[in-house]
Amino acid sequence: MIHQYQLGDYNIVLDVCSGGLHVVDGLTYDIIAELDEKIRNGNETKEASDSAFSEESENEIVAKMEEKYQGTEMGKKEEIQECFLQVKGLYEAGKLFTVDTYEPMAGELKARTSGVVKALCLHIAHTCNLNCSYCFASQGKYHGDRAVMSFEVGKRALDFLVENSGSRRNLEVDFFGGEPLMNFQVVNGNAAMWCFPWTAEKRSTTVSVWTMPVTEAGKRSCRNSRSS
Ligand code: SF4
Repeated sequence: MIHQYQLGDYNIVLDVCSGGLHVVDGLTYDIIAELDEKIRNGNETKEASDSAFSEESENEIVAKMEEKYQGTEMGKKEEIQECFLQVKGLYEAGKLFTVDTYEPMAGELKARTSGVVKALCLHIAHTCNLNCSYCFASQGKYHGDRAVMSFEVGKRALDFLVENSGSRRNLEVDFFGGEPLMNFQVVNGNAAMWCFPWTAEKRSTTVSVWTMPVTEAGKRSCRNSRSS
């Protein structure tokens, strides 16, 4: 499984199962996208990957790229073939389209933990009052509409954690955003509602609020401010 995305001028390819991170040019990026489509259509099996790198598939992808990059330096057949070969080299070296070895174990791990949940990250505020240029979350709204979580939804999520925590003594809740304190009433209400009954049962709870404190001078300090 891979994840492709563009950030500024960078074309980035993450090979999820090996952890390999590749920064590539536009042609390579497009070739990888074509291969990915074929592999996904074949349910991401080893056979599907091998078939995507077959001679027949190579010829098909090369022809597509020749058409797309026609009239440019990158549109030359030899250039595209060379590029395809390099991508194939990454695949054969286990750095791209790596097979997911975790998937077969997932059911077993779930069975071993009996489905017990010990931590929850609540996306309590899908918005932010700051405008950091480097923001990973498009100023808190993740390219969507701004919104905040209602108290009822937060409460149901915390009830779910409690109901599924089995005999675990240490539980954890993160209030995340955007800027979680833009939904302070709900953070406060949910935290209070949740912590008191648990403290009474002598269980340990940790509540974190992932906020961005701003100093009096207007400077932002650490993003990952954590309170328990
Ligand atoms: S404080 Fe965080 S969520 Fe808000 S704009 Fe800055 S980086 Fe983005």
